[in-house]
Amino acid sequence: DSRDIVRHNEVDSLATHFPPCMRNLHSALRRDHHLKHVARLQFGLFLKGVGMPLEEALIFWRSAFAKITDDQFQKSYAYNVRYNYGLEGKRTNYTPYSCVKIITSNQPAPSDVHGCPFKEFSKNDLRLMMKGYGVGDAVSADVARLAKDGHYQVACTRLYESTGGRAHRAANAALAAGAADGSISGGGTEGGGVAMVQTVEHPNQWFDMSRMWAA
Ligand code: SF4
Repeated sequence: DSRDIVRHNEVDSLATHFPPCMRNLHSALRRDHHLKHVARLQFGLFLKGVGMPLEEALIFWRSAFAKITDDQFQKSYAYNVRYNYGLEGKRTNYTPYSCVKIITSNQPAPSDVHGCPFKEFSKNDLRLMMKGYGVGDAVSADVARLAKDGHYQVACTRLYESTGGRAHRAANAALAAGAADGSISGGGTEGGGVAMVQTVEHPNQWFDMSRMWAA
């Protein structure tokens, strides 16, 4: 279905639906015109999961790495893009990294931009990130506390709920009301009839929820 294909020139406009980890990689890529290996893997596989086919991925990465020649790109980077799509090396059809994988593997060095911001960011960087998402002080403090206590995915879910998740929550609440009067089964409620968003387990889950509920 061609409507489900994400093209190289649609990434910037879709970034409003990216979770913090991927927004961070996206802005680093735009700022530096480059990403290191693990960051490329994380972001490249995420984009694959979003629906970007190989041909579009090659155009996307080629144009994003604006400071190098075609020759350098072909020699040093095209292989990795094709590798993500299972066309090189072991020919594994790699899947996008889950939150747990991002949080627990490839521990980033201070100069790296990959990883989960809730784990890797300083308190101040987290505060700035929250500001970027336009959330209020109370939510921001709540998220910072959850992150400090090591509840990274819960912190991420809390942020999602207070941003793109509003419409999602409202829809869940409607579903829950339907479930309560027996007209609909299920509905994802948690205590006291307050509808909650499912905990974020995967960056592509955030993206899919955000895009679906923004409509
Ligand atoms: Fe990304 Fe998952 Fe961390 Fe959220 S919890 S920022 S989706 S790795």
